[in-house]
This record gives sequence, structure tokens and C-alpha cells, in this order.
Amino acid sequence: MDPNVLHNIGYGMYVVSSNKGELFNGQIANTLFQITSEPITVAVSINKKNLTHEYIESSKRFSVSVISEDAPLAFVGKFGFKSGKTEDKFKGTKFIKLDSGCPVVLDNALCYLEASVINQFDCGTHTIFLGQVTDSKILKVGKPMTYDYYHQVKHGTTPETAPTFIKSETAAKKDKPFMQKYICTVCNYVYDPEAGDTDGGIQPGTAFEDIPDSWACPVCGAKKSEFVKAG
Ligand code: FE
Repeated sequence: MDPNVLHNIGYGMYVVSSNKGELFNGQIANTLFQITSEPITVAVSINKKNLTHEYIESSKRFSVSVISEDAPLAFVGKFGFKSGKTEDKFKGTKFIKLDSGCPVVLDNALCYLEASVINQFDCGTHTIFLGQVTDSKILKVGKPMTYDYYHQVKHGTTPETAPTFIKSETAAKKDKPFMQKYICTVCNYVYDPEAGDTDGGIQPGTAFEDIPDSWACPVCGAKKSEFVKAG
């Protein structure tokens, strides 16, 4: 079996949010699909360990914010690599609360929809929630970020709790020669000197050693000292 086949499956990038009473949480999800058009339903796969899973099971609803291609890695990092169990992700985030009580992330969002859970499927580590869409709105015109763009252009990584996490992904990214790459020990983000970190003000061609100590991992915010040589 060649796991690289799985890299050829296309996805988008979304923030899926939900609530438990007045508590809000949201997370990055790439496995979100429209399932039917009459009625309009969507399905999303969520890891059982995630706080958003607990909130969706509680409120039986979730919102989906479609992320714009120009969203910074730090935003993806906040919702994709941090847990709502240890920090309030909605602090410092622009959002609205719908009449149902469900929060919707507006930062870096092109549009959103809200769905009411009408069925769910136990998939071992994950649950697929099937939701009937109850509300939706376009916020601005732009290009939705695809999962491929996130990986190839933004050099983003995948957390182990994602449905599409592949164990070999980190190892595969370590291999190329040229300038020394460094890997974040917290989130597996790889700093590639050839690409730099333009969101973080680091120009392409900048060696890791030349990055200021104040620089932080663009995905998870870890300090420069928490990086180790890759490969
Ligand atoms: Fe990191």
C-alpha cells in the first residue's frame, strides 16, 4: 500500500465551531463535504478527543467557516494545533453568536454555514456528524484555501488527531538536502530556509541560524529554541 495515494485526495480548510451552553470552541477541519442537496446536508469528521466533538454532541449543531487562501499560518495554528481545553480560542478572534447559540468564526472567513446534527456515525477514533444546513451567509469574495495549498504553498502540517494524518508525513518532509531544515518539536512544522516564513517576516533564503530569537513557530507559536534539526 502506498500512503502517498492519500495525498492526492482533495480537501478544503474550515473552522468548525460549536458550543456547550455559553462555552465556545472551534477547530480546523479539512474533511467537510456536502452530502445531499434536498435537504442540504453536510458531513464532517471530528476526532473524539477534541473539545469540539464534546460540544457538537452537547448542542447537536455546528458552524463551518470557509477559510480564505490568504489566512496566515498563525490563524490555522490557533484553531488547528491548540486545544480549547487549555486556552480560549475565541479570545482575540472575531466571531458572532447565532440565534441558536452556535458561534461562527469570522476572521479569515469567506462565508459560513450552520448545521443541525441529524445523524452521526461512529468511526473509531472519529465521529462523522451529518448536519442539515439551517443558515448560511457569504461574507466576502475570495479564494477558499484548499488543503493542498495549505501544505504546498503555506508549508503547513497536519496534527496527529486529523482524520487525514499520515505517519510518514513528517519523515518525508525531512529528506531534501540543500539548506538545513529545522522542525518544530511541538507541531512538526518544518522551517524550510528556501521558503522562509513570509507571514512571519522571514525572507526566502534565510538560514535558520539567522532568524531572530524572537521569531516563533508560525503554526503553533513555539519558541525558536524548541526547533531541532530535521533529518
Ligand atoms: Fe510549531
